[in-house]
Amino acid sequence: MEPSLTDPFNRKIEYVRVSVTDRCDLRCTYCLPPGYHDFVEPEQWLTFDEIERVIRAFTELGVYRVRLTGGEPLTRHHLPELAARLNALPNLQDLSLSTNGVQLRKQAGALSQAGVKRINVSLDSLQPERFANITGGGKLAKVLDGLAAASEAGLHPVKINMVVMNGVNDDEIEDMVRYCLEQDFTLRLIETMPMGDTGRAASSHYLDLEVVRRRLEKRFDLVAAVMPGGGPARYVQVAGTALRIGFITPISRHFCETCNRVRLSADGALYLCLGQDEKVELRALLREGISDEGLKGTIRAAVARKPEKHEFREQPRKIVRFMSRTGG
Ligand code: SAM
Repeated sequence: MEPSLTDPFNRKIEYVRVSVTDRCDLRCTYCLPPGYHDFVEPEQWLTFDEIERVIRAFTELGVYRVRLTGGEPLTRHHLPELAARLNALPNLQDLSLSTNGVQLRKQAGALSQAGVKRINVSLDSLQPERFANITGGGKLAKVLDGLAAASEAGLHPVKINMVVMNGVNDDEIEDMVRYCLEQDFTLRLIETMPMGDTGRAASSHYLDLEVVRRRLEKRFDLVAAVMPGGGPARYVQVAGTALRIGFITPISRHFCETCNRVRLSADGALYLCLGQDEKVELRALLREGISDEGLKGTIRAAVARKPEKHEFREQPRKIVRFMSRTGG
């Protein structure tokens, strides 16, 4: 029998998102407060040996997709080494990365060689000044150059993640569609989530992506599409082109019934739902010498506690942690 991890709602868990640090070299308005420094100390980060051990256990239980995320994963030194180690796990089939792109020019080649196949890059604006305002001083040119480096390194598909904010960047969605068409990127539009005070503040710019989809339908001929990947986006394609546009709608139309993932934080907490607090602390167990069978038993018991759904709409004040703790 194939190993598998199934939760009480009959969802198969096949995907782990690994946050390798909660630190970031940008300060996006909806994610981390300006001047925020209350980060996990590096001694508390899981080491590469510990991450590999946890992911090995997961892959022996049926997980075959892993995404490296953060914080900003490219700020963790020697990330390609970790990528190579995870990619060598026999059951792992899909290793991907989420990044803000700032350091991609330097690292895209090494990441590709290490076995990262595809990447998601956050990009909320194509206007330098607006980009700097949203990201707390980020340089758009650097990210665009990083994206070029990703293509040159053969990372494919490159998915652009755009958090859509009413009155902030929603006037740029068509520009972003054209940019992705030109660059052969996939575009994913994301609704703001009320995570931490920052996410809650940004939710005042919340825009239902169904409205955006109807707007886009007036400008482009959109047909239903599918896209490989383990995530929750629902895709359309611009007819006659290769461009796919994904809609990630945690607020207007949640997708919890198809959730297939759990998240490991940089300090080794296994979060069972992005929008709930249930977690299991693995770091102490690893450092106390838990056996491989014990680790797998702990993972099974954790998955048995996976919440049915988030409550971003019903309880928007519930989640105080910032997105940088668990990655998206
Ligand atoms: N630094 C990497 C990046 O920029 O993709 C990975 C971590 S970042 C936390 C992952 C994703 O979460 C990004 O696409 C970011 O835009 C998104 N994000 C952060 N806070 C959010 C919020 N409150 N609502 C919606 N998306 C959010």
